[in-house]
Amino acid sequence: LRAHDADLKRIVLALDIGGTKMAAGVVDGDGHIRGRGRVPVPSTTNPDDLFEALRTCADRALQDAGVLRSKVAGVGCGSVGPMEWPAGKVSPLNLPAWRGFPLRDRLHEEFGRVPVLVHNDAIALAVGEHWRGEGVGTANMLALTVSTGVGGGLILDNRIYHGTSGNAGHIGHIIVEPNGPECPCGGNGCLEAIASGPSAVRLAQAEGWRPPEGVSLDGRALAEAAAAGNEIATRSLERAGQAVGVALASCASALDLQVAVVTGGFSQSGPSFWKALEAAFDQHARMAFTRRMQILPSTLFGEAGLLGAAAFVLVPGSYGW
Ligand SMILES: [Zn+2]
Repeated sequence: LRAHDADLKRIVLALDIGGTKMAAGVVDGDGHIRGRGRVPVPSTTNPDDLFEALRTCADRALQDAGVLRSKVAGVGCGSVGPMEWPAGKVSPLNLPAWRGFPLRDRLHEEFGRVPVLVHNDAIALAVGEHWRGEGVGTANMLALTVSTGVGGGLILDNRIYHGTSGNAGHIGHIIVEPNGPECPCGGNGCLEAIASGPSAVRLAQAEGWRPPEGVSLDGRALAEAAAAGNEIATRSLERAGQAVGVALASCASALDLQVAVVTGGFSQSGPSFWKALEAAFDQHARMAFTRRMQILPSTLFGEAGLLGAAAFVLVPGSYGW
């Protein structure tokens, strides 16, 4: 019984708050996810309703694992940003119900006097890849997610890298086409304005692409059109892949990295995207140390964010603050 209790002490609750869904996991010291919860983000303007959905999600994971709240040794959370870090006050662009929402304080009220650590979701992703994914054993790496947005996080000298305000690794706003399309951030030609799923769809639409009747207008439809040989869809995916390759070449030069792990739904858009990415990296990364950076797809099946959030608490020496 005593050994069992000791084991439970190393169990943490991990939360991953995205723009459309929330996920929770009960994670042990070995990085095994013992229970899971998942809820869609409710469409609401009430901050408490949104928090209630998160609580439901967390309780489902605890129930699934058969773990009582009182046995949780800490809570790690990755959330869409922006946020005030390390205070954990979040104002996610696509969750308007939360503006300056004291997420970390609310989780403390909920789970008592255990460590509660809240960081940007892309930083959780990088930590997850370094702890249990393609970045294991590397000292310097970048994780990049290409999805409805483009985000990134860094591990430098074997440690989580926060930057001054907790915003290091915002690769989505590296400039890849100075005269390129407008970005939601207010700039022009940011990686996200070209390579995110919605951006690629918008650019294809501007050239006249439409999905077939009854198919929703999204990155998946664009990828399917490209796979079926549609030229506009293919060009848009190539432009997205090229933009990611250019950005990665810049990151390799600035940071002297061993690995860049690329993840996110839109990064799985097929060969037009990947071939363009690799060709652009090859063209723009010219120095020996930049060319040595490996670009690898994630093998964590979308769980890097949860694992990273858990690692904030479980491995404080490398990933805590
Ligand atoms: Zn931008």
